[in-house]
Amino acid sequence: MASTDQQAIPEKYCTPPPVFSSVLTERYLSNNSATFVQLHEEDAQKDSSHMWGTMCGLKYSWKSPVELVHFDDLPDWIKDNEFVQTCNRSCLPIKQAFKSVFQVHTETGNIWTHLLATLFSIWFAIYILPQAKNTEAFVSLCFFFFGSTTVYVCSTLYHTLYVCSYSISQIMGKVDYAGVVVGIWGCECACVITMFECPSHRWSLLVIITVLAFTCFALVVLDRFSGPSVRVCRTLIFALFGIFGIVPMITFATINNSCYLDNAPCASVVTRTVVYLGSMGATFLSGAALYALRIPERWWPGKFDLIGHSHQIWHVSIVVGFNLVYVGLIEVVNNKHLLPALQCSA
Ligand SMILES: [Zn+2]
Repeated sequence: MASTDQQAIPEKYCTPPPVFSSVLTERYLSNNSATFVQLHEEDAQKDSSHMWGTMCGLKYSWKSPVELVHFDDLPDWIKDNEFVQTCNRSCLPIKQAFKSVFQVHTETGNIWTHLLATLFSIWFAIYILPQAKNTEAFVSLCFFFFGSTTVYVCSTLYHTLYVCSYSISQIMGKVDYAGVVVGIWGCECACVITMFECPSHRWSLLVIITVLAFTCFALVVLDRFSGPSVRVCRTLIFALFGIFGIVPMITFATINNSCYLDNAPCASVVTRTVVYLGSMGATFLSGAALYALRIPERWWPGKFDLIGHSHQIWHVSIVVGFNLVYVGLIEVVNNKHLLPALQCSA
């Protein structure tokens, strides 16, 4: 009995099965070699909400209130990553999209990585801001928490709602990118305020960062800058904005360079700060590289649909990167008295 029943499993695991002729399997290995667990045939036929998906090489079925479909069955405007094959949400009303936050599908990991980060970031800001050592540290941390939380909130909204309609997907795409611009701006401002005492250095860097941020924001939000004709220019400005983030770090290391001659405590603070911020850069870049190359799902299509695909890795790298920025900021705030070169002589 089992051998003929096993062949009835549909190839497209997430499409509602056309006929679940005799049995639903609860769980089996992708090479079809594992033990099958039978469910009652009558329940299976009544229940078209049973879905199929792959997680860590295992295929699962579960009850899902929203219809999950194979990548090939998605409308073109939802299609994004052909290597994430099963368990994609298709078009949903807004209310259903919000409900789907609590269900298992390809976006669950993307949503929750940044939803949990949002909640933690708000809680931590409320806890830590009243303890700021001085006004400067308070303002710096406000920029940091505003930037990082904006990234998390915009990303969570995008991943929840982009399936609602084509126009909503376009709007939410802009919201997601705009959140990234605000996040980079907040982080870079926080670093400049913390690392530079001298108003001339501080304000010139803040003005450059803010002008770049406004330019990127306009490129993201205004439709006239979305065409292919301005793509190169847009990419270059975004790259310049991101790369400009290393300018404060390099300047900080350069003006404190003399510490390495005869001031060990100062030198160790500078080293730790550069290591934290350098690790942040490496984390963002490696996450972005995996995201752009769609690794690991490119190598094992369909094996990372629920957990472990490149977009989730990118989200985790964003959270880790922001935490490294925070640690670097606190390192400087707590040890400013050990950094004589930060005192403004002008
Ligand atoms: Zn995302």
